[in-house]
Amino acid sequence: MITITEQKPLEEVIQSLETHQGIYLIGCGTCATMLHTGGKSEVLEMKDKLEAAGKKVTGWMVISTACDVLTKDALRENAKDIEVADAILVVACAFGAQTVTLYADKPVYPALNTLFIGKEESPGYFIEVCLQCGSCVLAQTAGICPLVRCSKSLLNGPCGGSVGGKCEIDPDIPCAWQLIYDRLAALGQLDKLEEIEPVKDWSTSHSGGPRKITIET
Ligand code: SF4
Ligand code: SF4
Repeated sequence: MITITEQKPLEEVIQSLETHQGIYLIGCGTCATMLHTGGKSEVLEMKDKLEAAGKKVTGWMVISTACDVLTKDALRENAKDIEVADAILVVACAFGAQTVTLYADKPVYPALNTLFIGKEESPGYFIEVCLQCGSCVLAQTAGICPLVRCSKSLLNGPCGGSVGGKCEIDPDIPCAWQLIYDRLAALGQLDKLEEIEPVKDWSTSHSGGPRKITIET
């Protein structure tokens, strides 16, 4: 699993930094490096672009996993260069940006958009597999999520528009319900299609404020 990111348009980044002159840059050595959105080369590219736009880059680093608690130590180790900056630009996902926000006393800005949590299905092709709805239905759907894999997020079977196993909304993707049917058939579990999935209770999803849980440690 990987957090999928894309670079924001440079104009948007420059605009978010418009009131700041000295900028410290932070990339991430995990997901953003793998996706070529916020690894060492992209951080250095951003440095050049900011300098070309008249900013002063006071320093940069690529934290091995920017969303990790060890980010706190990385910030401390680089405190001298961060101290002289007016703001921090995080070239990593929103988890990384928010982790930096937690430990830094400077304004923090994102250079990337965080798109989804996905998985590499084939080299260079990433697809969303779970939107973390909080009440998983994979037991009924042969381990394939209809909420993210079906373009209409249908929970009780296909819409009927699939052609040749492809989705009618996006012919580049397989019909999720074709995948579910085929896998249930292979598992000898087609009877599961007879079960009616009740109307989804979205109260466990991201609507309604941040979700939280306490576990015993
Ligand atoms: S049903 Fe919900 S929790 Fe389960 S895979 Fe789909 S989005 Fe994720
Ligand atoms: S064709 Fe399949 S994946 Fe596409 S919207 Fe219909 S049921 Fe969902």
